[in-house]
Amino acid sequence: MYQGPQAYIPPASSYDPTAQRFKRGKKEFYEDPDRFAVEPFKIWDDLYYVGDQLLCMHLVDTGDGLLLFDCGYGHTTHMIEQSIEKLGFSCQDLRWIIVTHGHFDHFGSGDELRRKYGCKIFMSAVDTQLLREDPRRALMDHGPHPMEVCWPDETLEDGQILQLGKVQVRCVLAPGHTYGVMAFFFEVGGKLAGTWGGTGMTSLHGQWCRDLGLPANKANAMLQSVNKLRRETVQINLGNHPPQNCTLEKLAWMQEHPGENPFLGEESWKIMLDLVEEQVLDFMEKGYDK
Ligand SMILES: [Zn+2]
Ligand SMILES: [Zn+2]
Repeated sequence: MYQGPQAYIPPASSYDPTAQRFKRGKKEFYEDPDRFAVEPFKIWDDLYYVGDQLLCMHLVDTGDGLLLFDCGYGHTTHMIEQSIEKLGFSCQDLRWIIVTHGHFDHFGSGDELRRKYGCKIFMSAVDTQLLREDPRRALMDHGPHPMEVCWPDETLEDGQILQLGKVQVRCVLAPGHTYGVMAFFFEVGGKLAGTWGGTGMTSLHGQWCRDLGLPANKANAMLQSVNKLRRETVQINLGNHPPQNCTLEKLAWMQEHPGENPFLGEESWKIMLDLVEEQVLDFMEKGYDK
């Protein structure tokens, strides 16, 4: 049985709202992203990990084309393509990309993938609207290269259900990290997989919100989202950045213990929600949301 951590949400003391430090911290990744590659692997049934060490990306074989959740930084497109091909799929079959929220690290490769493979891109209507009002909200200046927002072909509403091949994806608005971040739920191999597309708290800072012309009540919104998401019984918790569900620790365990699958189980989702709640309360207590 897997003994490692199930979820990790960084404590409030490590939050840093300044863009420059964010950029410096990722310098090596921007200069040589291949060093941060992760060998793609099957999580369960038709569900695969095709992300890297910094950003989770999940591929689902819908039986009628490939569905990708998030498409990473713009300078990692070649790594996404390699991962898809290494699993034995063809990028030509990439039909849909669901972007979990309107930040550049989640949609960065979208335009290039769409241009090459003609895939359709989805993002929440809320985040799309917020970016139309002010594209700075996508935090593109935190990235290494000048870039533009990857505009979706179709926007998503709370409660909407997408039928993609044999897979039904339920979209649930779960604001906090951004006002339009969504959680997505779908069945794969008889289990319910779920992902909350953003739980980082840096973007909850009151000053951060004011700088981007956003109302500074994101922390409250996040607490409400935690309660909303507690209603779900998720058997496979998928991360948005690897620490969120401890993707890399679970992968290491899988490699050392063939036949065991630490991605399966209802605990990870619950632990993640408990941790988010704990950290948001701590964040509010420290007054970072003011
Ligand atoms: Zn984000
Ligand atoms: Zn992110």
